[in-house]
Order: sequence, then C-alpha cells, then structure tokens
Amino acid sequence: MALIVQKFGGTSVGSIERIEQVAEKVKKFRDNGDDIVVVVSAMSGETNRLIGLAKQISEQPVPRELDVMVSTGEQVTIALLAMALIKRGVPAVSYTGNQVRILTDSSFTKARILQIDDRKLRTDLKAGRVVVVAGFQGVDEHGNITTLGRGGSDTTGVALAAALKADECQIYTDVDGVYTSDPRVVPKAQRLDKITFEEMLEMASLGSKVLQIRSVEFAGKYNVPLRVLHSFQEGPGTLITIDEEESMEQPIISGIAFNRDEAKLTIRGVPDNPGVAFKILGPISEANIEVDMIVQNIAHDNTTDFTFTVHRNDYLNAMRVLENTAREIGAREVIGDTDIAKVSIVGVGMRSHAGVASRMFGALAKEGINIQMISTSEIKVSVVIEEKYLELAVRSLHTAFELDAPARQGE
Ligand code: ADP
Ligand code: ASP
Ligand code: MG
Repeated sequence: MALIVQKFGGTSVGSIERIEQVAEKVKKFRDNGDDIVVVVSAMSGETNRLIGLAKQISEQPVPRELDVMVSTGEQVTIALLAMALIKRGVPAVSYTGNQVRILTDSSFTKARILQIDDRKLRTDLKAGRVVVVAGFQGVDEHGNITTLGRGGSDTTGVALAAALKADECQIYTDVDGVYTSDPRVVPKAQRLDKITFEEMLEMASLGSKVLQIRSVEFAGKYNVPLRVLHSFQEGPGTLITIDEEESMEQPIISGIAFNRDEAKLTIRGVPDNPGVAFKILGPISEANIEVDMIVQNIAHDNTTDFTFTVHRNDYLNAMRVLENTAREIGAREVIGDTDIAKVSIVGVGMRSHAGVASRMFGALAKEGINIQMISTSEIKVSVVIEEKYLELAVRSLHTAFELDAPARQGE
C-alpha cells in the first residue's frame, strides 16, 4: 500500500465531466489500496477570469485582496471533486490551504510555503478518507490568505508529498509527460522517460511551464519522487530523477525551452568609470525588479553601452528607473524593446561536450536569425532573439540537436 499525492491541473478539472473522470481515476487507485491525497487547480480559465475582474477595478490590484479572490477558484474544485468521490461511495473531505494550515510567508501573489501541518491529513487518511486539498494557496502567520504564484498548485502537490513523505507525487496534466520542447510549438517534440531534477529546474526556469519552478526545487530538496502524467491517457509519463545516467547514449541536449515574458533595456553612451554596473543596476534592484541577462559592451571613446532584460511586467517601471539613472550619470539615451524572446538549450550532457554553443549559433545563423544577447552556464545556453523568429528558432534547434521524433509510417 502506497501513499500517493496526485495533482490535477486546470484543464483536467475544467468541466463537471472532467471532474467526474478524475473522481473515477482516484477511486481506482483507492480501490487498489493506496492512500490518496489529491491537489486540484481551479477550472481552466478561472484564475485568469478572476484576475480580469480585479483589473476592471484597478490596473494594479492590492495584492492581499487579489489573493483573497483568486484563491476561490480552487475552493470550488476541491468541493466538487469531494462531492464526486462521495457520490461514488469513496469517503472524501476537502480542505482549503488555510484549513490544512499550509503556512506561507506574507508575499502576496508569490508566497513561499514555510510549513505544513499534516495532522488533519494523517487523521483523515487513517480513517480511510481521500483528502482533497486546494492547490496554489496558503495562509500567513497573521491569518491572511496567500497564493503561491501562477502554476502554484504543482508546488502544493510536491510540498504535501514532502510533508507526508509520500511514495510518489504524480502531476496529472494535459500532456503525457515532459517533452523535449513544448509540443504546442514543436510538433516533433518527444516525450522523455526521465529527466534529472537539475535539467527540469533549468527547463522550468527558462520558460517550460509544465511544472512550476518551485515545485521542482522542493522535489529536489526533499527528494520527492515526481512524475508528470496525462490525466486521462494511460502511460508511464516522465520521471524526474536524481541520477544522471552515465550511458554513452546520453543526449547532449535534453530539451529546448523558451520564454516570451522578458523585455530588454539599453542605456547608451554611459561614461565608463568603475562602479557603472552598480550605478545602473542598484536602483533597479531597489525598485524590486529582477534582472535576468546582462551585457556590457567594450568601452569606446570612454563611453559604453549596457543592456539587460527584465520581466515584461516590470518593463515600464524599469524604464522609468533607468531614465532617472541616465540623467544622473550623464548617459546619452535609454532605449527599450519588448518584442524579444529567449530561447535556451538545456542538458547535463553539455558538461562533457565541447562546441555545443557554436552548433546552436550555427543553426540560428542558417535561418538568418540574429542573436542579440547570449548567456551560458554549465548545462544551458540561452540567446535573446526577435520574438517573431521564436517558433522558427525553437524548431530549427530541435532538428539541429537531433531531438525530432522519427517520422511515423506514412508521413
Ligand atoms: P496544468 O493546468 O495541468 O497545470 P499547464 O498548462 O500548467 O497545465 O502545463 C502543461 C502545458 O505545459 C502543456 O500543455 C504544454 O503546452 C506546456 N509545456 C511547455 N513546455 C513543455 C514541455 N517541455 N513538455 C511538456 N509540456 C510543456
Ligand atoms: N490556478 C492557478 C493558476 O492558474 C494555479 C495552478 O493552476 O497551478 O495559476
Ligand atoms: Mg500548471
């Protein structure tokens, strides 16, 4: 008998029929003798709908109140799923994050889980009940409702699995596993049987939203066996593992991630003195804006250009701060660009192979795609390109690194 945490995403609970189907699935596991904790998201589209309502009141809604509201999406689905289970003769009980007591910090809309009280859950499991927990939400030490950031139900699932020392955390979604790239953009993407935590973490943080970044961090930290599966199709899914197999067949690249959520800012004609980077980025960080990629050009005539990227939501704010800085330090001008995209290749196999980056640049050059910025780490290479070339870039790289699925017969 195993203890399994199963998380079902928005499309998997997107209608009453789907919720009934999820109940059938959970019942099957339980009939098998497993103890089950289910985490659900809001019905697909619901979180966006709620955020839309708030934005009709204010472009920047008060974060505390936003959390009070968006957390309701999950409160609906937990109750519906518990009802559907009870209807099938499966004893079940639903809890909001607050009722469980999923304690978080007070960073509304992006709270971090600090502690989970597992007493209620254990009592219910012992009594033979399936426990249905609302994803994406918690409560801070003052009793305020908090949410964990978009995609946060994944993190609820993994955190519960860690707290309960579950045998496995199963993330059920609308794809049958983690693919070499987003199958919506790359039709020839292939499902991976396994991917390491390290690679999955890179993929998630570079834009593959199949798992929320924090869920992967949690799973790695607490060693939670994590699997991504299709909600309604049978199959092995993708296991996120610790070990890097030492096999010769280890691909150099495991996946290609992309991100359309960034914007680029450049400050030109900056007097090139020591401390320039600090003068430019200090105020940005004081404004609580996170910077991703940074490039400083070689000085020419004692002035230099400095470029960096931020989240698109922070673009206007960053622009305001940078224009101030430009005036203060006597820079020539500030320019910005929101039509950019970041494309990244990820793989632990890169550690033992030279020439991976140049192969990437070659593939992009062949398509006439200009690279605006580059950053590398041990297991990834990222480039910033013009957004309109994103899909072409991702597909070309997928082919160049031999990740394409073999054509099926008749194709
Ligand atoms: P859920 O609502 O179940 O949480 P999400 O929409 O958050 O589902 O995540 C699943 C989606 O992630 C897929 O439909 C797919 O388009 C996207 N995705 C992006 N990158 C990948 C990848 N490398 N492998 C699989 N899916 C990916
Ligand atoms: N409902 C939330 C969202 O749409 C959390 C989740 O689905 O994981 O982001
Ligand atoms: Mg998700």
